[in-house]
Amino acid sequence: DIALYEAKKNGRGRHQVFAGDMDDLLLRKRKVESELRKALNGGTGIKLAYQPVFATNGKTILGAEALIRWGHEVHGALPAAQFIAIAEERGMIVQLGAWVLLEACRFAVRTELPWLAVNVSPLQLRDAGFPEQVASILAETGLAPQRLQLEITESVLLENSDTPRAALAALRQSGVDIVLDDFGTGYSSLGYLRRHAIDKLKIDRTFVRLLDGDGNSAAIVKALIDLAIALEVEVTAEGVETEAQKTLLVAMGCRQLQGFLLSPPLEPAQLLSLSGPASEENDRPAVVRA
Ligand code: C2E
Ligand code: MG
Ligand code: MG
Ligand code: MG
Repeated sequence: DIALYEAKKNGRGRHQVFAGDMDDLLLRKRKVESELRKALNGGTGIKLAYQPVFATNGKTILGAEALIRWGHEVHGALPAAQFIAIAEERGMIVQLGAWVLLEACRFAVRTELPWLAVNVSPLQLRDAGFPEQVASILAETGLAPQRLQLEITESVLLENSDTPRAALAALRQSGVDIVLDDFGTGYSSLGYLRRHAIDKLKIDRTFVRLLDGDGNSAAIVKALIDLAIALEVEVTAEGVETEAQKTLLVAMGCRQLQGFLLSPPLEPAQLLSLSGPASEENDRPAVVRA
């Protein structure tokens, strides 16, 4: 919570500061909450960026991931993870998540992307209406379920409730792909993987970053990739920032790469020029068709 806790740095006497900070933090959170609510209801200020995922040649676009951005003049600098956390805390994530899904699916049908991935909060999956929500958005936008991927995190698979797992099973049944995001950072749900309930693993960037360092880290990444290959699920490496990382990952058998080295998250128009319908004007790299 870097930005939210920023106030703490303006230190005076310690006790005094602590009391002041708590108020300040609460106030900031409330302010963010009400501004976010306004943006959501007015449909302004919130938008999606799209980060492509590439084949090992670094050119062919295999698909893309939708990432939320908030262009608020004051709070706009807040990282996605921070205002997503506030939306989760304040009961707004189901509404926000529905907006993201609709916006992403509307975009996807305008492109030739084989698939588009959308991040889903554990709280959305706990909502009993989620599978129907996805189905109705797919129907409304005309996006084939096979072109939608939902990125979930490991915590979802470990919940006591059956609701999230049942939702995921129903969605997979309908053709939507389920991707395990940030793989390796949680308590690994190996039992879940064994039951073939996942279509793809995304190796967290904290492991990719360590690839430049010691051999142990490389061994872990290799093991994660081997696990995916043995289970016959796809594997993506996220946060690829250097040629050295890319070379190692490719040598280890990773076929899908995402990260600043290949492309940052893009404006919709930028991605459309790379993966929209072909035209005379755009001399663009190949997109693998769905
Ligand atoms: P994530 O799903 O793991 O997304 C990857 C994050 O890494 C994104 O940050 C992306 O911009 C960033 N990234 C991509 N390539 C690189 C790289 O080479 N180096 C580094 N250092 N970072 C890279 P972003 O957009 O700030 O999103 C952060 C997190 O917020 C996401 O992590 C996801 O958990 C969450 N999030 C974003 N959009 C949504 C959304 O629409 N719904 C939900 N529920 N969560 C979202
Ligand atoms: Mg993700
Ligand atoms: Mg991730
Ligand atoms: Mg991650």
